[in-house]
Amino acid sequence: MITERKVYNFGAGPSALPQEVFAEAAQAVKNYQSSGLSILEISHRSNLFMDIMLEAETLIRSLMQIPDHYEVLFLQGGGSQQFAMIPLNLLPDDKTAYYIDSGIWAKKAFEESETIGRSAILVSSEKNSYNSIPKEFSVPQDAAYLHLTTNNTIYGTQWFNAPKINCPLIADASSDILCQEINVADYDLIYAGAQKNLGTAGVTVVIIKKDLLGRSKRVIPKIFDYQQHAKAKSLYNTPATYAIYVMLLTLRWIKKMGGVSEIEKLNRQKAALLYNEIDSNPLYKGHAVLEDRSLMNVVFQMTNPEMEKKFLKAAELFDIIGIQGHRSFGGFRVSLYNAIPLGHVEHLVSLMNQFREESVQ
Ligand SMILES: *Cc1c(COP(=O)(O)O)cnc(C)c1O
Repeated sequence: MITERKVYNFGAGPSALPQEVFAEAAQAVKNYQSSGLSILEISHRSNLFMDIMLEAETLIRSLMQIPDHYEVLFLQGGGSQQFAMIPLNLLPDDKTAYYIDSGIWAKKAFEESETIGRSAILVSSEKNSYNSIPKEFSVPQDAAYLHLTTNNTIYGTQWFNAPKINCPLIADASSDILCQEINVADYDLIYAGAQKNLGTAGVTVVIIKKDLLGRSKRVIPKIFDYQQHAKAKSLYNTPATYAIYVMLLTLRWIKKMGGVSEIEKLNRQKAALLYNEIDSNPLYKGHAVLEDRSLMNVVFQMTNPEMEKKFLKAAELFDIIGIQGHRSFGGFRVSLYNAIPLGHVEHLVSLMNQFREESVQ
């Protein structure tokens, strides 16, 4: 039985999923499709699980319109493991990996690459507390690839157009995959840990152009080799079976909602509602510059920082959780991932509004 949700969870990840996904995931733990088996005890090589993998791949391919010359992999290790796998597979000794530094995650990706081969930050918005996406740059001739972070989860900035460049483009889409329509062919590799917008922690989706496979000139462990995983259809070793199932449920839900275009409309509505309150209420000020404002993570402060504690208390009374800013940054961060209903944003905005009235007295 689904009970009425009592808490409004705007956490940055692992984050809220649709209620029906929780309900179905719970049922599958007890008895998966009347098989008498729990989803947790099913062999990853059984037909039951093969069907799950196949449907998950087919769905993500159709929802994102992924061209056939891309491989879709379901790996583990989160976004952070990709920080290492990308240079291990795609950075030869005679080339340089370039990174756009738009926040802590972008920088972590760069730092991992540095341990593997020649790597450089091409451009950075660190000086402005990462309140914008640095878009002015040109990529040097010796580039193995350019890496960017499509959504900067901590600062609330997002790319809306892929840069046109003449080397492979790699995107960390951990916090905005499937939030808006994108042209997959603009990228050579897109990766995302599932726990923000796609399901639960444990599986990482990697969408990679097939001609990038097997090009590593390094001797690397097989477990980190994209080609091994592609050959084995993501069954090189035991995959994160339950996480893949929860992702499948989430993908089905996105399809039912009308696909990515409808989800994007809803996301734009949710974000507009919240940004509008931030802009029109003198108590709050947004962090990101207008043109780079994220649809997924809305970051703001209070004009009087002393009121932030009081606001958090008030939020608690409204059953709102997960809005405290990243520990490295402070203020507030409201995550509006696909599964967050418009009604939850309305609830938060009504608090923000009432809070003004109370504090003006
Ligand atoms: C959360 C996050 C990561 C880290 O993901 P893990 O799965 O914890 O390794 C990487 N990049 C971005 C943009 C993120 O939001």
